[in-house]
Amino acid sequence: MAIDGNKIIHAVMEGSRIREAKGIIPLFGVYLSLFSVHYYNRLSFEFEKKMGKTRETEAQALLIQAAQECGYATFQGIRNSWEWDEIVKPMIDQKEDQIEGFTAVAVAFGWGDLEVKKLIPDEKLVICVSDSYEAGGYLNQYDRAASGKCYMLRGVTGAFMDLIYGGDYPDGCFTFTADEPLCRAKGDPYCEFIAGKSPH
Ligand SMILES: [Zn+2]
Repeated sequence: MAIDGNKIIHAVMEGSRIREAKGIIPLFGVYLSLFSVHYYNRLSFEFEKKMGKTRETEAQALLIQAAQECGYATFQGIRNSWEWDEIVKPMIDQKEDQIEGFTAVAVAFGWGDLEVKKLIPDEKLVICVSDSYEAGGYLNQYDRAASGKCYMLRGVTGAFMDLIYGGDYPDGCFTFTADEPLCRAKGDPYCEFIAGKSPH
């Protein structure tokens, strides 16, 4: 059975109506909260700028690494939840299908309109996003970028592959690394994330 992304999105949206007193949303085995995109973007991009030109690469690597670790732990929690068992698992025929399940959850979380363009098992994953909030936020705040700016989605793309092909949790994080060759923040029509095996 193919993965019905809309069914997953509706389940997340329905479930996210339940909030604890502090606004925490307990859903799919993890704790979620509503967060200001503008604030998150400013934290990321101002951190990068404060690190200066000489340490820009280091700042970007840290932001991607943080996103990958977070994505790895978060989606491990999600795929071990009862909601996943109930809603997503019946649609999964082979382990690769989990990636479509992950992207549908990410769409429902408001991370963008993630679309899996290509998956070569244990080798390569290509995800395209036309409305990344990081690219949009960057363009609103600064001049056109010289390189990709969607560090969160870049880390998350790597994490998806880590969870499927990186071996047993929690030792598989960073088995894969993702690049962002195309990004709306640098004038491309959409953002493209390509994950492949990490060099080391
Ligand atoms: Zn981008």
